[in-house]
Amino acid sequence: MTAQALHEWLKVEREAVRKGINAARRAVWWFIATIVVSEIAILWLGNSIDFQLALVMALFQGIILVVFLGIAHQRKLALTDFRTKSNVRRVRQGELQEISQYLRALMLKLNLNDKDLVLYRQLTLHSTPAIKASHSEIAILVPVGFISIFARNPDAGKAMLAHELAHVVQHDASLWVFVGSYGNSFKNCALIFGTLNLIGMGAEAAYSHKVPNVPMGVVLMSVYIAEYEKAVHARRRSEYIADFTAAACVGPNAIYDAILQYVESDGVGAGGFDDELMRNAAGFGNMLHPPKAWRLSRIKAYAPLINQNPEVKAENAT
Ligand SMILES: [Zn+2]
Repeated sequence: MTAQALHEWLKVEREAVRKGINAARRAVWWFIATIVVSEIAILWLGNSIDFQLALVMALFQGIILVVFLGIAHQRKLALTDFRTKSNVRRVRQGELQEISQYLRALMLKLNLNDKDLVLYRQLTLHSTPAIKASHSEIAILVPVGFISIFARNPDAGKAMLAHELAHVVQHDASLWVFVGSYGNSFKNCALIFGTLNLIGMGAEAAYSHKVPNVPMGVVLMSVYIAEYEKAVHARRRSEYIADFTAAACVGPNAIYDAILQYVESDGVGAGGFDDELMRNAAGFGNMLHPPKAWRLSRIKAYAPLINQNPEVKAENAT
């Protein structure tokens, strides 16, 4: 790989990430549009048995939708507002000096120094930090487990912080929150609607001799999941380029070491019950970090180049 090829690779990856995030947003709108269209279709049925059945179905769907919106909202809170966790408190001035000083230096290097930095400390032994970013503020959550890693192995700790800040540079830190909360919830909702639709079609075919209604739920499920899967792949790519930025800032060995030693298991992140379930099933719909081995092999591939080419570091740091 040459420096030029690396530069091209970064450009392609960033563009792919942007497209993936857009696909996930589009999917949510597609979902809402399909619901509206199917409600209008129900009204057209008029006052028949079909209409009444469809009405019951629509009410049922409405309840499910509200439940999933609630779940999405809870997830979003958990992902964005670190203060909602009982074991979290804001770090006071003068505390965790080394970490906050390093973060400020890194923000300068990555052109993020127009934002305020707020640090939160979490009383858990987790080893990975988390980030939340708005246009004016970067909030970083450091668990006690991470604080001790930073003391024992500063380079690995720095690399993990650089990885988090890279998500802000890539403009995907907050967008993943949207995909991970609303996108994910709507995905589950689409799965349920599609399944109900299939059952309904089966019942219709078995008990009446009519042609089944338009399989709106199945169409909805298929399109939504196709769009959502694009976001899943973009998520993986966004992790690879965040690792790349960490390698350029702290060195490839530092980020390699951090992932190998301290990333707790494959795909640790802001997951929920469904993520685990999906991963165990087929890895489908998984919005978490890609498996450790995949990340490590990418770092190995570009590591020699970062070491030899200071201009790559300069390019990436701006
Ligand atoms: Zn990440």
